[in-house]
Amino acid sequence: MHVTLIYPSVGRKAGKPYVRAWQMQPLSMAVLASLMPREVEVTFFDDRMESIDYDAPTDLVVLSVETFTALRAYRIAAAFRARGVPVIMGGYHVTLLPSEASQFADAIVLGDAEPVWTQVLEDARRGTLQPQYDGRGKRVLSDIRPDRSIFGRRRYQNITLVEYARGCNFRCDFCSITSFHKASQSHRPAQDVARDMEESGSRRFFIVDDNIVSDPSKARQLCREITPLGINWVGQASIHIAEDDELLELMAKSGCRGVLIGMESINQDNLAAMGKAWNTARMSYAQSLQQFRKHGLAVYGTFVFGYDQDNWDVIKQSVAFAREHKLFLAAFNHLVPFPGTPLYRRLQEQGKLLGDPWWLNPLGRVGDVVFRPAQLSPTELQEGCLWARRQFYNWRSMFERVRDTQANARNTTMLGVYLGLNLGSHFDIDLRQGLQLGIGTESTVAGNEPIRNQLGLA
Ligand code: SF4
Repeated sequence: MHVTLIYPSVGRKAGKPYVRAWQMQPLSMAVLASLMPREVEVTFFDDRMESIDYDAPTDLVVLSVETFTALRAYRIAAAFRARGVPVIMGGYHVTLLPSEASQFADAIVLGDAEPVWTQVLEDARRGTLQPQYDGRGKRVLSDIRPDRSIFGRRRYQNITLVEYARGCNFRCDFCSITSFHKASQSHRPAQDVARDMEESGSRRFFIVDDNIVSDPSKARQLCREITPLGINWVGQASIHIAEDDELLELMAKSGCRGVLIGMESINQDNLAAMGKAWNTARMSYAQSLQQFRKHGLAVYGTFVFGYDQDNWDVIKQSVAFAREHKLFLAAFNHLVPFPGTPLYRRLQEQGKLLGDPWWLNPLGRVGDVVFRPAQLSPTELQEGCLWARRQFYNWRSMFERVRDTQANARNTTMLGVYLGLNLGSHFDIDLRQGLQLGIGTESTVAGNEPIRNQLGLA
């Protein structure tokens, strides 16, 4: 049996390379590959980096689908199905919108793939695929050994992705992750993560958990387990651990060099509206940032604009704040209503969504605002985000922020990483903006019927 795994791209910008910062190893593909019995031949295409060979012989195609890659995934699926090849889809978009995804696949997997994968392969081999396999509530996270050999010699970012936990215990109203996991989190054994790191042969890791400190006691366990490895790592964390000096010290000792923090807004009413008032409940942002800096941890702060209190003043104040506090990196994005989230339902009820379902709009582009904000027009909000990025990544700001010698430039390695990532962001701003959803390297694909027609949306 021959199985083809495909990781779809978001889309393309005509004549331009794919955004380099988005070219990280697709860990989910390596985990899926590790679930294949030895007799199954596996081919992998990373749609972000190479053309897909639609005519190469295969018995089954497996696609991982996120909301931003849904249109592209459905087009790829249509091309294979037109050639008589069955297609299976999984991923959080599929789980949150099963009735949509089912229209483009022979079978879908809900929730985790691990508990149902043996059955999926068995049914595919016999030609008796069921329309739906449900891995929800059957999670087993022990003994996961990602098969990274499928990445071959592709030029991914020089950092290895590992997973400790899935999900998050918080309930931010815009977050599709917590909707998918129903505000819960499950962990792999910390020893498995350490073994995974050792077996990968790498020294630099991105722990991909959506919130590595959602359960601080589990974070402590991991830190103690990986400290002897002498590695460097970065991860995503919520800011509530800023007051936990012991954990921050353990993280730094275990090799943590920086954390991505969802700061989201400097406006308290916005934070309350998104269910994230806890961000500043115990400490101000300034105090929290000082805590991370004290432990030598660089902070990548992410901000979102488009909540009801947001206007040009808030946008300007946010950039000034990010510069004043010398964030290592920062993201300034407009609010995106992901399907399945409370935010999406609220905007839908209020009649504020534009071009719904926006992720299937063949003219949709990265950077488009797909709802009507309260105080700005969609175009103003889009321009506000671009303006913020340009201000934060201009030469003067980069020079000001590198003068933080506690975290950003605490040694030559950090200085090198700071310069590489900030320069990359400086030059990538326009490349990311306007990338067209659903477009691939091939100009035409046989069997690529208009997706919106199929859904009766044209
Ligand atoms: S803390 Fe982060 S991962 Fe958790 S629900 Fe909020 S946005 Fe999602």
